Amino acid sequence: MLPAFFGSILELVTKTSTDLPPDVRAAMKAALGNEPQGTQASQALTIMAENIDQAVDGEGAICQDTGLPTFEIKVPVGANEMWMAQQIRDAIAEATRRGKLRPNSVDSVTGKNSGNNLGPGSPVIHFEQWDRDEIDVRLVLKGGGCENMNIQYSVPCDIAQLGRADRDLEGVRKCILHAVWQAQGKGCSPGALGVCIGGDRTSGYAHAKHQLFRTLDDVNPDPALAELEATIMRTVNVLGVGAMGFGGATTLIGCKIGVLNRLPACFFVSVAYDCWAFRRLGVVLDAKDGSIKKWLYRDPSHPAVPMLDQAGFTRTGKEVMLTAPISEAQIRELKVGDVLLLNGLMYTGRDSAHSYLMKNDSPVDLNGGMLYHCGPVVLKDGDGWKMMAAGPTTSAREEPYQGEVIRKFGVRVVIGKGGMGAKTLAALKEHGAVYVSAIGGAAQFYARAVEKISGVSLLEFGVPEAMWHMHVKDFPVIVTMDAHGNSLHKDVEAESAKQLATLA
Ligand code: SF4
Repeated sequence: MLPAFFGSILELVTKTSTDLPPDVRAAMKAALGNEPQGTQASQALTIMAENIDQAVDGEGAICQDTGLPTFEIKVPVGANEMWMAQQIRDAIAEATRRGKLRPNSVDSVTGKNSGNNLGPGSPVIHFEQWDRDEIDVRLVLKGGGCENMNIQYSVPCDIAQLGRADRDLEGVRKCILHAVWQAQGKGCSPGALGVCIGGDRTSGYAHAKHQLFRTLDDVNPDPALAELEATIMRTVNVLGVGAMGFGGATTLIGCKIGVLNRLPACFFVSVAYDCWAFRRLGVVLDAKDGSIKKWLYRDPSHPAVPMLDQAGFTRTGKEVMLTAPISEAQIRELKVGDVLLLNGLMYTGRDSAHSYLMKNDSPVDLNGGMLYHCGPVVLKDGDGWKMMAAGPTTSAREEPYQGEVIRKFGVRVVIGKGGMGAKTLAALKEHGAVYVSAIGGAAQFYARAVEKISGVSLLEFGVPEAMWHMHVKDFPVIVTMDAHGNSLHKDVEAESAKQLATLA
């Protein structure tokens, strides 16, 4: 067979998870340069940039959510696709064992995590034959936070703030703008879009995702679509959603539009929203032995220039230090915009843990405590554990539970990303708690703030869903919902809705 194939795929998976492609780096660098210093968006972009550099340096996952690996492969006629698919599955399992991928494949009926990223539909592998004597393998790792922001429109339809979207490119433009607005910071903005006009509901989404294999700086060969892409990029940033939805100058770093034929009765506009941690790489393999002939999207002979040519996240002296357990009085002094440095014991808890806490006692003492919406990458390290990647997950999923969990267990600080809704805001005010935003995708940056892991509860839910007992030091976050009824997320959403209306 191809003796080097397995190693080449493992290398591709590792690099994709840890090394952001140059076009995305350039876009993020430009975003950082465009943001006035000292703003919350600038702080967020600085942490993202620092995290990108740390991921390369330590070969660690850029974001702890390494997504559903999606491969697009072109093979010569006669290639053994079944053998290759098995080799790819083996490489995925090995990359997971090494902590380059988070175990992300969950049985949809039992909720059991397979632990190795393998299972029905995981990974996604699309083969296609071509007439060249080489193998082209491309990979996108797209996490759940941005996947949840994908959206599909059936046109004609009425769109809030923008009016009717008709079955033409003007209607498509409105759909795309709305797709960016509705994501706010929940998909870890600034984002990048793959869009498909047409197809059916399934092929439309697949083709939209396929657009993510284009580089951010390419030009659509179809002049009408090129013009639409340029129009979106020229106008969209007026929305002011900004990095992580904090408000700011850059909301989108790319928009790539493809088209498929459709049924006369259907006109779908499908949007695949990817986050700033837009992980996409590829390799061209020798068809005789499977070795890497060439990298795609990156040039190893030109090592990546560091994102930051200055100090990363630096203290201004205005930060508020908080150590758990935290009192109600300390919380009531905080307001939206305060930067906190958190210390002491912090527990992770996301979907399964919140659902469990609604029906059961907590396995840990959360009174005065800090609860982190995070599904980390953790590896066994002798008798203990080692934190490999620890960025926040999208908090909105916990909105049905959070208020009750705060009241029942006395939580004082909820840490996450993307913000939460009215029920949580009311609970924060009533009980005396705050919601603070960590920077989505900054998995290496936050892993470095974890001094040790002293234990774990509910591990039966799998590594991402367990409650990890983390001891943190100077863990930086921004208060975005306070105990006085204020929410930065609510304000940015309302203001950006007004801006959206200007683009009608
Ligand atoms: S950067 Fe945010 S949206 Fe992207 S994979 Fe990570 S957590 Fe999910």
